[in-house]
Amino acid sequence: VSPLRRALALRCPLCGEGRLFASWFRMVRNCSGCRFKFEREPGYFLGSIYVNYGLSVALVIVTLVTTTIWPVSTTLQVSIVAAIVAFFALWFFRYARALWLAFDVSIAPPEAQEFS
Ligand SMILES: [Zn+2]
Repeated sequence: VSPLRRALALRCPLCGEGRLFASWFRMVRNCSGCRFKFEREPGYFLGSIYVNYGLSVALVIVTLVTTTIWPVSTTLQVSIVAAIVAFFALWFFRYARALWLAFDVSIAPPEAQEFS
């Protein structure tokens, strides 16, 4: 199973066993399978904001293009974009962190001291 698929399942990118989240917004500290510490350094998941932001912008562009092809009023267009972005950013929060972690461990594999 690839790290990408593990991320989309919100599982540890290394072993695929441990869950990343205990609840919607609260992460588990260590993988229950391999003991990998998910927050690799202080502020580690700030990078996931870029993932979330990038996809939110892409979604806004798609929405703007769609509402230009099938025109609606400006008020409705702004309302649709605002609703989609607000919902998407919250819904995608966990996936952004999981994808960020999977991407990062693929370019910088963890060292022994990152397991506890
Ligand atoms: Zn693991």
